[in-house]
Amino acid sequence: MTGGTRKAPPRGTRSGVPASLSLDAEVQFLKGAGPHLASRLRALDITQVRHLLFHLPFRYEDRRHFAALHGLVDGAEALLRVRVDRAEVRYTGRRQLIVTAHDGDDWLRIRFFHFGDAQTRSFASGRWLRAYGVVRFGQGGAEMIHPEYTLADSADELRAEAQLTPIYSLTTGVTQARLRGLIAQALDIASRDAAFAESLPDLPQPATLDALCAIHRPASDVDAAQLLAGTHPAQLRLIDEELLAHQLVMRVLRRQVRSRPAPVIRSRIDGMPALQAQLGFVPTGAQTRVIAEVAADLSQTRPMLRLVQGDVGSGKTVVAAAAMLAAKQAGWQSVLMAPTELLAEQHARNLAQWLSPLGVHIALLKSGLKKSARDATLSAIAGGEANVIIGTHAVFQASVQFSRLALVVVDEQHRFGVGQRLSLRDKGPDGLSPHQLVMTATPIPRTLAQTIYADLDVSVIDELPPGRTPVLTVVLGNTRRHEVMERLRAACRQSRQAYWVCTLIEVSDEVEAQAAEAVAQQLTEELPDVSVGLVHGRMKSADKDAQMNAFKAGEIQLLVATTVIEVGVDVPNASIMVIENAERLGLAQLHQLRGRVGRGSRESQCVLMYQPPLSDTARARLQTMRSTTDGFEIAQRDLELRGPGEILGRRQTGLIGLKVADPVRDAERIPALQVWADRWLEQHPPLASRLIERWVGDIKRYGQV
Ligand code: ADP
Ligand code: MG
Repeated sequence: MTGGTRKAPPRGTRSGVPASLSLDAEVQFLKGAGPHLASRLRALDITQVRHLLFHLPFRYEDRRHFAALHGLVDGAEALLRVRVDRAEVRYTGRRQLIVTAHDGDDWLRIRFFHFGDAQTRSFASGRWLRAYGVVRFGQGGAEMIHPEYTLADSADELRAEAQLTPIYSLTTGVTQARLRGLIAQALDIASRDAAFAESLPDLPQPATLDALCAIHRPASDVDAAQLLAGTHPAQLRLIDEELLAHQLVMRVLRRQVRSRPAPVIRSRIDGMPALQAQLGFVPTGAQTRVIAEVAADLSQTRPMLRLVQGDVGSGKTVVAAAAMLAAKQAGWQSVLMAPTELLAEQHARNLAQWLSPLGVHIALLKSGLKKSARDATLSAIAGGEANVIIGTHAVFQASVQFSRLALVVVDEQHRFGVGQRLSLRDKGPDGLSPHQLVMTATPIPRTLAQTIYADLDVSVIDELPPGRTPVLTVVLGNTRRHEVMERLRAACRQSRQAYWVCTLIEVSDEVEAQAAEAVAQQLTEELPDVSVGLVHGRMKSADKDAQMNAFKAGEIQLLVATTVIEVGVDVPNASIMVIENAERLGLAQLHQLRGRVGRGSRESQCVLMYQPPLSDTARARLQTMRSTTDGFEIAQRDLELRGPGEILGRRQTGLIGLKVADPVRDAERIPALQVWADRWLEQHPPLASRLIERWVGDIKRYGQV
């Protein structure tokens, strides 16, 4: 290591790694690896050497001091140095090897349930034993089960560690020691890589490689408390680096989308009044404002990239309708992509009601269409007769050819990442890139939105349509199910309509469907004078349609459903929502479900039934639901009760794939990083791409799920 920019070379650089290997090399070529280990590592998303660098420890163990047996705490981890007294195999209950050892006055038992003969013999009386593990106090005193251990003939040979021990997430067939060895080699390779030695502007010290070394192999004088709390300067540096890389990618992708020309759609002034006449209501101030923001985007020569955020029931569909009508009037096609078939069908119905009288031809692309019907729909889309195309993500299959696509609306876009937004670029005619409008009801605090949707402009519908009465929420234990039934019976007699939502822990469509069927059956028996319907994810879409239509028409009074109705289903006359096992659902999901009622002028009720005993968090969630109906307040509470990863669901954090940063905890860093990101793209484009490659890898894969 000569003349580098770092003050000290990373420690332990003699891992014997082949000199020719680069950070891009496959891990199988590392010393001691091979195709078999490499295939195992794939489960940890580690394929290239560079991935090892960023596989960071999720905690540390302190093995820097030997503990005395008499001072041990039950349940705590400890490093011990003890002397073997005897080892014996016993058959009490289960065959086990019991090693008895002492440190002078006090005794320790170590139990092994998996062991071999050689291992048994190795615990010879008088040998010294170093063991690390959780200590338990059983009847016979202190015990450890399957500790990590080493044996030696003298006490001096057994030493405590000089440093904190990093602990990594593992996968079958890959041990901590294995992973540590591979990571040491990766750090060696990185230390020879010029890109890692490069000093980067703006970012705080220490430099990347030093920060990685400090985290993978903490120095003996490290501030352990800082490291364990995640606030060590090395960790802060990596957090900034990662968030910066993330902002850079979002900006680059945004630029890539916006680098193409877009169809210019000037809204005709006569569009809105005509639409209003069809709607049968006056748009709220917020809707009107957001429609104007969208219209302004559509009239530009660059594609719109806009997120419309609005609480459940705030009327986002009207905004989509206005945009698609404008596109049609300018001679273009639009696509509306919904997360489920049920919602696609509902959108098709609503939009047909509003837009068909204005000459808009709507095509619904659903699965299970007869070939002739599907072919007819596809040819209407390819020929341009269809103005608005509605479906699930299947609308972007290769078999769907658009004639003049100018606008893509994505509803409730949990499953739609930046990468997919990028892929829409190519869908327009003649090299034109369609405008993109993304709608979401997931209320996310602003700072978090800035991280996740950094490539989008944001409009907020912050007003609900008038005449809504807030939903009254009650929380009841399952034991009061009978009361709930009685209330439902009375309510249905007054021609009110209700949902009954079944939830399950096991998320399998099939099991969920069976449970819903059983509940529907039971409710039919117990409420003979009430007409009960059923929708679940395993039903044929025609059957689902029939049930939904009957519910909408009031022929079905009580609709038993799985959480398929969570997003977007709209039946204004329904005014009671019963959710079974509500304790199993997260706040966001409960809020979505409750949003299905309270849409008409009638006072609505939501009954959250739970199975006792309630955990503290579950209790706090239900309490939150009882005390507020404001989506943003609920989101904030959700943040406090759970980690950000859980809020967005695994898929959604997966969308941005952060390794060290936490979009909620580190939110306050974002504004500064956005300034840096812009400056880097202006002044240091090569650095920007190297940072992106370091943290994100291939930009095209970014955000794909
Ligand atoms: P979301 O934002 O949850 O998608 P929707 O677009 O489904 O909400 O609208 C919810 C309900 O409110 C629908 O029945 C819709 O027709 C109705 N609605 C939307 N805007 C208004 C308004 N300005 N006045 C009255 N009702 C409205
Ligand atoms: Mg909606």
